[in-house]
Amino acid sequence: MPINPKDVTWIKEPEIGFWEATFLPAIAKGLRITLGHVTDYRPVTQQYPEQRPVLPQHYRGVHRLNRDEKGRVKCVACMLCATACPANCIAIEAAAAPPDWPDRDKYPAEFVLDELRCIYCGMCEEACPVDAIELTHIYDMTGESRAAMVFNKDALLGIYDKTKDNPADPVRTARGRLGPASELKNLATLGPATTVERGDRAATAPSPGVIGAPPPETRNTW
Ligand code: SF4
Ligand code: SF4
Repeated sequence: MPINPKDVTWIKEPEIGFWEATFLPAIAKGLRITLGHVTDYRPVTQQYPEQRPVLPQHYRGVHRLNRDEKGRVKCVACMLCATACPANCIAIEAAAAPPDWPDRDKYPAEFVLDELRCIYCGMCEEACPVDAIELTHIYDMTGESRAAMVFNKDALLGIYDKTKDNPADPVRTARGRLGPASELKNLATLGPATTVERGDRAATAPSPGVIGAPPPETRNTW
């Protein structure tokens, strides 16, 4: 079907004058911008690690597995996070819940998350129906081997213990009464995200022999 000429907007090519043709105004404009940067002495380099960055409120860092009000792992081993994960870095071993846990059928006997394979997209915490998995503001984790960065259930629960009192963590799981975030009346009142001080970041010591447990030489800086 031919195009109606009324639907066509014709744009006239701008005419270039003498000075534009010499490119001198454009060169002068570029030099002005360059000189502005050269004479701007405001510091642009952050003196890390002495200076800690102020992270955005919704920063997605290392994961944690939350505990419920009884201290039990909140996860119900529904596998939704592992299914949603585009990096395929979550492995869960589901088991029947202990008899004295009448509020659920299953729990994770093991929960392994490869922090190096993760792309920190946040899909896992979005998928979790019980706010059991969350991403924290911890960003400066290191390990001496790849295996050390594969966190098991104890390590992920340990991160919860370390971060649960940090008002910046969590900031997203406010949809129910299940997570600590649910106790925050108004997330907008949270100030800029802050990070846990280096001295407070003792490495979690998972129980030896558990799948994905960091080896003894593991040393994380957080
Ligand atoms: S943040 Fe994304 S990539 Fe990482 S474990 Fe969660 S779903 Fe997978
Ligand atoms: S962390 Fe949440 S989504 Fe993942 S298995 Fe546990 S309950 Fe399901």
